Amino acid sequence: MTIDEVLRQMPKTELHLHLEGAVDSLTFAELATKHGLELPPHSSASDLYEYDTLADFLKVYSLVSHAIRDRDDFQRVTYECLERCAHSGARYVELFFSPESHFEAGVEYGAMLDGVLQGMEDAETDLNLVSNLVPAINRELGGVRAVEFVQMVADDRRDRVIGVGLDFNEVGYPPEHFVEAFRLATQVGLCRTSHAGEVGPAANVRTGIELLGCQRVDHGYNIVDDPVLVEECVVSQIPFTVCPTTTTYTSSFRDLADPNHAIRQMASAGLKLTINSDDPPMFGIDLAMEYCTLYHIMGFTPEELREFALNGIDAAWVDDQTKSEWRAAWSDEIDKLLAQVT
Ligand SMILES: [Zn+2]
Repeated sequence: MTIDEVLRQMPKTELHLHLEGAVDSLTFAELATKHGLELPPHSSASDLYEYDTLADFLKVYSLVSHAIRDRDDFQRVTYECLERCAHSGARYVELFFSPESHFEAGVEYGAMLDGVLQGMEDAETDLNLVSNLVPAINRELGGVRAVEFVQMVADDRRDRVIGVGLDFNEVGYPPEHFVEAFRLATQVGLCRTSHAGEVGPAANVRTGIELLGCQRVDHGYNIVDDPVLVEECVVSQIPFTVCPTTTTYTSSFRDLADPNHAIRQMASAGLKLTINSDDPPMFGIDLAMEYCTLYHIMGFTPEELREFALNGIDAAWVDDQTKSEWRAAWSDEIDKLLAQVT
């Protein structure tokens, strides 16, 4: 087997994936037509995911969100997204979704949940892929709305809804605005993570951990500017969900081959990293391709990739018994796969 085939089959987790960023372009075009939405000019559906600037990307992202409107749409995009995860070797997925983006189109939270959770059930039955859901706070709507949002999540708590995230633009919306929302999340037993240190400073990583009580950090690249914090996080082994391809669009680390790329620095320092795909079809990738990128472009060894895959188990929000069963089974499976590389 080639290394690429082995990396695709290697059992792995996906812990940083946004539902609205995981819609196939053809599905997006079909849903837009179904709901009578006007699309930008394009000759084929894949043109819809071509953008030169972050502003253009966000415009398309918002259009995709508005095209997902009813229970069937949510079920379909969730199932298709999980199907691609399974095709990448994912065995466990924690999926972010952004309810606020759909409220703009008049969709009720309960209807979104009904569709997403049905898609997850179906994927578990058909593909043996376990998944949980993490509704994400849109930080650009501010701290007061964030508290209401967490209350809404707590009031309609279904089995697979296990935590909350904090995403969208860090600039102008630092984590300290969300202390109250995260305190409420802790009180009601929701797990917690936040996007930090992607475009914002290392201080946002510290605030996310210390003031918001986050159990994980999403991205976190700018932590490399604060060696003291790096050392603290090496000691605590708090996991970071890094997403190689999107660093080249959104962070200041645009060259994956650069030995000083943040992901390389974070790994060398001994931080606990998990590999994830963020918004895969919008950047023409999938989770397995991210592992291949780490191998071929960033120069990580198969042993390091094995470690990243297993780190995902430590970082997952599942019970300790499940973690130890997965660790034993996956380690075995990965070793057998790596022995077959030709
Ligand atoms: Zn993200």
